[in-house]
Amino acid sequence: MNEILEQARRWIKQEAVWDSQLYVSPGEGALPVGRRMVEKPTRAVALSALHEQYKDCVRCPLGPTRIKFVFGVGNPESEVMFIGEGPGYQEDRMGEPFIGKAGQLLDKMMAAIDLSRQTNAYIANIVKCHPMVNPQTPDERGNDRPPTPQEVETCSPILLRQIAILRPRFIVTLGSPSTKMILRTKDAITGLRGKLFPFPVEDFYPASDADLPLDAATREALRQTQVLPMFHPAALLRNPTLKVDTWADLKLLRSHLSSR
Ligand code: URA
Repeated sequence: MNEILEQARRWIKQEAVWDSQLYVSPGEGALPVGRRMVEKPTRAVALSALHEQYKDCVRCPLGPTRIKFVFGVGNPESEVMFIGEGPGYQEDRMGEPFIGKAGQLLDKMMAAIDLSRQTNAYIANIVKCHPMVNPQTPDERGNDRPPTPQEVETCSPILLRQIAILRPRFIVTLGSPSTKMILRTKDAITGLRGKLFPFPVEDFYPASDADLPLDAATREALRQTQVLPMFHPAALLRNPTLKVDTWADLKLLRSHLSSR
């Protein structure tokens, strides 16, 4: 009983942190909360509150079978956010996105245009737990699968909150599932890659949605966010001829980043 009460108290406290701080834009001064004034959090603080809120999530069937919850990595002040599909075998074990073979290639792609997860990029996935073909055999290799639409839907509030905190100038969607989710389209990646699209902020955060409130400055910032779909690095490993197009896409991103 005491444990349940303690859990409930922790939960209420966490929700209060969420309500009072998460959608407040950094740099806008203090926010009145009840009769207290609370300093607005930095992006890093807001991200860690978000991570804390969801790290034990079991809202979808991927939760109970995961080893690690893979939240995201990188500099929260980055202008660029890369979004992949979901953690694989290695990521599930290490708790960090894109660290297997595809991740090593992503690091090289980013390095080619002077980006890195250590300095000026942020990386996350549309789902935070490892989708497996057969969750009964978690140690088997080649057991990865794309997330189902239901899993993506259930997990989407986490990514949408990450985006609202980061307010990136550019979102690079890697591969088909993340491009479809972020652009709310059924179109194939082949026709979308290499083109810039506005981030559909009003679709994701309608003003009437009390669960995903945005302050005015964040809404305005996200209206400027552009989405650049690219092939997933795993697709480049399977089909190296796609590297030519991807290099063109990376150069496009570099030219936009250096134009301000
Ligand atoms: N592929 C992804 O889409 N995300 C990862 O984190 C790893 C591989």
